[in-house]
Amino acid sequence: MQVLNLPVEIFDHTWSLKIQGKSIGFVPTMGALHEGHFHLIKRAREENEIVVVSIFVNPLQFNRDEDFNNYPRSVDQDLVHLRKLGVDVAYVPSERAMYPELPQIKLDFGLMEQVMEGEFRPGHFSGVGVVVAKLFNHCNPTRAYFGLKDLQQYLLVKRLVSDLSLPLDIVGVPIVREESGLAMSSRNQRLSQEGKRIARTIYQGLILARQLWEDKSSSDETNQTVNAFYREQKGLSMEYVQIVSPNTLRPLENNKLEPAVICVAGYVEGVRLIDNLYLRQD
Ligand code: AMP
Repeated sequence: MQVLNLPVEIFDHTWSLKIQGKSIGFVPTMGALHEGHFHLIKRAREENEIVVVSIFVNPLQFNRDEDFNNYPRSVDQDLVHLRKLGVDVAYVPSERAMYPELPQIKLDFGLMEQVMEGEFRPGHFSGVGVVVAKLFNHCNPTRAYFGLKDLQQYLLVKRLVSDLSLPLDIVGVPIVREESGLAMSSRNQRLSQEGKRIARTIYQGLILARQLWEDKSSSDETNQTVNAFYREQKGLSMEYVQIVSPNTLRPLENNKLEPAVICVAGYVEGVRLIDNLYLRQD
């Protein structure tokens, strides 16, 4: 496995592979890798001749310095995992290499970013869009893999690619959970045992929502019952609970025969966690 640090190095390397006709699967990450990331990488491995994984904690997408500074970092251990997974190239740029100058551009995804993560993390998706566009330009991917755990991010990246006619496909990969149901996340490392116990009630709330939805409860009823369940959990403080269309992210008022997903964000021990569950698939 090659480890490259500079945009020009990864560009030259992937470009020469691309013009030889090789398919390149790309998995962007912020490191502190876990089983959730591994699923994306395995999928990329199955579907492409070359696999590139980037590790970069992107300051532009954090709206709180504290969150950025506390984000777990473990590059050496991450590289060991990547070698075992048969990754061809690890791209690990420094902040200076990624942003020789602070980008002045701001991306606005319209209505899709005014809800949920966009509402509670101002500037977050602009930062995601800028880093993803840069990484695509550096790595020349045929396909890029994103987790559906960050459903809003996945939809916005797809929009970025179609709005700018970027020449690659975006592939969404289902959420990987711990046995307890807790969605895997690098941030879980910051939770104590007790914190993990509390955090798994997030998933229990989602399962409750799905039962209610299947029993034809309305959005309001489902929301109220799930919120009441979350309020009973000591140590859990929810930021939002939203039932939306998985295609547009618009709130769904009624329970009709259309796709629906419940998306939530909350804090346990000061750690911000997000999750979602389809209430009805396409
Ligand atoms: P991150 O390192 O948190 O930026 O995540 C990198 C990629 O891995 C993103 O596309 C995430 O959505 C995805 N990812 C993180 N956790 C999971 C998970 N539990 N299941 C599926 N994908 C995940």
